[in-house]
Amino acid sequence: MPYVALPAATRADRLAIAQSRWNAILQARPDLLPAVALQRSLLEPVIDLTEALLHGRVPRLSLPARYVAAKLDKRIPALAAEPIPMPTAALKPTLLQLCQSLADGGGGEPARRIHAALDAGTLEAGAVLNAALCRDQKAIKIGSVHRDLQSELVWLVAELAVSPFVYALQQVLLAQADPALGAALDRWKQGYCPVCGSWPALVESLADRSIVRCSFCALAWTLDDPGCVYCGDIGPTFITAAPDPARPDRRLETCGRCRSYVKTVDVDELSPFPLIAITDLETMDLDMRTMKQGFQRPAMKMFAASKSI
Ligand SMILES: [Zn+2]
Ligand SMILES: [Zn+2]
Repeated sequence: MPYVALPAATRADRLAIAQSRWNAILQARPDLLPAVALQRSLLEPVIDLTEALLHGRVPRLSLPARYVAAKLDKRIPALAAEPIPMPTAALKPTLLQLCQSLADGGGGEPARRIHAALDAGTLEAGAVLNAALCRDQKAIKIGSVHRDLQSELVWLVAELAVSPFVYALQQVLLAQADPALGAALDRWKQGYCPVCGSWPALVESLADRSIVRCSFCALAWTLDDPGCVYCGDIGPTFITAAPDPARPDRRLETCGRCRSYVKTVDVDELSPFPLIAITDLETMDLDMRTMKQGFQRPAMKMFAASKSI
C-alpha cells in the first residue's frame, strides 16, 4: 500500500518535538530519567547529522525508478544488495560521538573501547557502517568478537550513525515521484520496509489508519490486509489487545503462528525521523509484558551479506 509522506521537519522541529515528548515521559515516569538522558545524548547527534545530510550534498543514488519498481515487484527492497558508496568521512564523527554518549550514559568501558578501536582504525568505520546498512548483524558480530568488542554496542552505534544516511537515501528515492515506482510501492504488501528491508519499530495509528513505521529509515506505509505484520496470519491466535484497559490508545498485536508482536500506538501526528525511538521508549512496558509471554520481535531480514568487518 502507499507510503505516507512524513511532514517536513527542520532540525529545530525535531529537537522541539523530541524535547516535549521526553518531558512528557519524565512527568509520568520520573524513574526513566537515566533512560531519557541516554536517549537524548544518542538522538541529538543523529538529528544533527540528519540536518547536515539533508542540507549538504544530497547523497547520489543511481537507482533508476523503473529498476527499483521491478525489484519491489520481486519483494526485494529498493536498497538491498546495491553497492551504495558510504560517506564515511561525514558519518564517522557521529559514530565516535555516539560511542562517547554511550560510554557516558552507562556503557562505560566497553563503549570506550569501541571508540578507541575506531579512532585507531583497528575497527574500520566504513566497514562497520556498511554492515549496518546491509543489516548484516552476523558480520558485526564476527568482527566484534574477533576484536573482543561487545557486538551489541557496535551494532547500536553503527545502526544509529548510518540511519540518517538511510533516511536521506529514502527521501531521495521517493522524491523521484515516478509513476512506475509509485505504483510498485502501492502494490507492496510486505511487513518489511520496501526501501531498506527492516521490520517496523511499531505501528502509529493516525485517525484510524494503521501506519507501519520502519525501525531504520522511518518510512511510513500502510498495509491493505489485516493480520500479522510479519507473517500475514489472521487466524484465531492473531490477537490485538490493549493490555491496560485505562490506555486503549496503546495496543499489542501478537501472532500465535510466528510468535512475534508489534506495538500499535494512537498518535496525533506521525513521528518525524528519528523520533520513532521515543515512541519505542514510551511504550517499553508493552515490550516487557509481551516478551514475558514468549513473544518477540523477529530476526532482521538480510538480503545480501556485507563484506566482513
Ligand atoms: Zn526502512
Ligand atoms: Zn505472525
